[in-house]
Amino acid sequence: TMRALQITGPGRLEWREVPVPAPAVGQLLVRVAAAGVCHSDLHVLHADRQRPAPMTLGHEIAGTVAAAGDAVSPIPVGTAGVVYLCWSCGSCRECTAGRQNLCLAAGRSAMPPCPGLMGHDGGMAEYVAVPASAFVPTDIAPVQAAPLADAALTSYHAINGTREHLRPGGTAVVIGVGGLGHIAVQILRAVSPARVVAVDLAQDKLDTATRLGADVALAADDTAAETILRLTGGRGADAVFDFVGVDATAQLAVRTVAPGGAYRMVGLGGGAPGIAADGALGDAWPWGASIRKSYAGTRNDLVDSLALAASGAIRADIETFPLAEGPAVFARLERGEILGRAVLIP
Ligand code: NAD
Ligand code: ZN
Repeated sequence: TMRALQITGPGRLEWREVPVPAPAVGQLLVRVAAAGVCHSDLHVLHADRQRPAPMTLGHEIAGTVAAAGDAVSPIPVGTAGVVYLCWSCGSCRECTAGRQNLCLAAGRSAMPPCPGLMGHDGGMAEYVAVPASAFVPTDIAPVQAAPLADAALTSYHAINGTREHLRPGGTAVVIGVGGLGHIAVQILRAVSPARVVAVDLAQDKLDTATRLGADVALAADDTAAETILRLTGGRGADAVFDFVGVDATAQLAVRTVAPGGAYRMVGLGGGAPGIAADGALGDAWPWGASIRKSYAGTRNDLVDSLALAASGAIRADIETFPLAEGPAVFARLERGEILGRAVLIP
């Protein structure tokens, strides 16, 4: 048996003794070295939809290969790596075009199976079974590598799709400088010449943004939209990345995206980008601007994220905790008391 952090009901997180999974055909058994705690884990914890059985959380996984099931081309036992979180089919048109995050097998919901979601046990445990195709070897230390599996992957994917908007003299806005946003600021600095404006409710998060290279740090208050418009000569930002996704941040994005600009909604706060009383974008939405709900990233986005980290261009700000302290760590994340990313160590 092994210890795992499992959801056993809506809002119920338990530290339990469970069987060590046996790797099925095509799977690897990974000995977990580090598991990041994502705000999405809080959304999963509080979702009131019924789950068939207790499920181990955790989709930011770094560890080493412990064993292989049948039909796995040999990855030597002991190889260190991270787990790509889109467990997509690998053979549909989207997957073969490199858009595994939009795998056709996932249907209209377009969320392929993911560890720690929808019944698939995740990495907040001593071991996890994963598809061999999802294992990406890396030499990066596991506590640093784990947050790359989602916080960097998802940020990189959202940013990478806006590269043609991010020109010298342009502006990118990052709303929410938490686990994802603090890495997004660094990715923007690494891959784009645009000025970076960070927005958050909390001063300590804004200080983090400044330390990591944001050119401007703004409190998320009534004046933020005005300030962004003033900074951009009245035109707005070329790209706005929303890592919160509540009504207030969606409206800030709508008010500040430039004509022809890009709004990328990443946060799962349940907000709607509507701005008129009836919820429609209406006249407030500038001509030519685009909006995208951005989900996770491609397998190549993970490889690129690992390369950015290996080169020193990005580095997760981490705080580590023993896995057994998971419930207390979740509570701290919920209260906004984690700077950067919390990482659990089994
Ligand atoms: P986090 O808790 O680490 O960070 C959230 C940050 O947003 C904090 O710094 C907080 O102070 C700030 N914030 C909260 N409300 C705000 C507001 N109204 N205005 C400005 N700032 C505000 O969370 P995280 O792990 O970085 O995740 C961010 C969001 O992204 C979550 O909703 C998560 O579920 C979602 N997410 C989406 C995907 C995807 O594929 N679309 C992947 C991972 C996470
Ligand atoms: Zn597919």
